[in-house]
Amino acid sequence: MSIETMHAGSRSAGAAPRILVVEDEEALSLLLSYNLEAEGFRVEREARGDGVETRLSEALPDLVILDWMLPGVSGLELCRRIRAREDSRTLPIIMLTARGEEAERVRGLSVGADDYVVKPFSVPELMARVHALLRRAKPERVASRLLRGDLALDRETHRVHRGEREIHLGPTEFRLLEHLMEKPGRVFSRARLLDMVWGMAADIDERTVDVHVGRLRRAITRGRDRDPIRTVRGSGYSFDETFGRD
Ligand code: CA
Repeated sequence: MSIETMHAGSRSAGAAPRILVVEDEEALSLLLSYNLEAEGFRVEREARGDGVETRLSEALPDLVILDWMLPGVSGLELCRRIRAREDSRTLPIIMLTARGEEAERVRGLSVGADDYVVKPFSVPELMARVHALLRRAKPERVASRLLRGDLALDRETHRVHRGEREIHLGPTEFRLLEHLMEKPGRVFSRARLLDMVWGMAADIDERTVDVHVGRLRRAITRGRDRDPIRTVRGSGYSFDETFGRD
């Protein structure tokens, strides 16, 4: 097992986000850590899948870049395990893979990867995704519970309640609701929601957003309940900022 910890020179160690790169191709691993360091991140590298869990138990990074094909334990299996652990359930994960088929992508996302990059990828593109994912993940450390009107979403337990009723949401609906509830009143375009929730705007039809918003609405709105989600014609969706004020 090869583990290296490298600190970005001029940045203060406390402020720079830590990124764990799990990749067995030495050249690629070095290329990534070089570029991540240049962006001000602290980088740790791991070349095998079976060393990752121990490392996570010692200290959680801010984000993991995880290769799919690894010696020891596969990236797919690792992703599943990371999501199953209480302490790393919301740890941001970007998966790297040579497999570009739709079925493989769906598998990666279904075990909980936040984003997915197909090799060969451009380094600037991956850097952009790292920044985007860190921006998305940050609010999770601020408040674990979002409360709007009688609707409550808990990021730690992944439970949603409307009044006393527990609402069971799929992972996509949960994240949609989470993003909408974070910024009541703000109108999100379908493209923006795709980017935030699915993390790969280019590959999914924007109508997919409508399908999942529809599902979310049906789950959280029963009978005479007020619908907290506004459809803004020609623009997208927003969480009604007046919800819960009446
Ligand atoms: Ca590999």
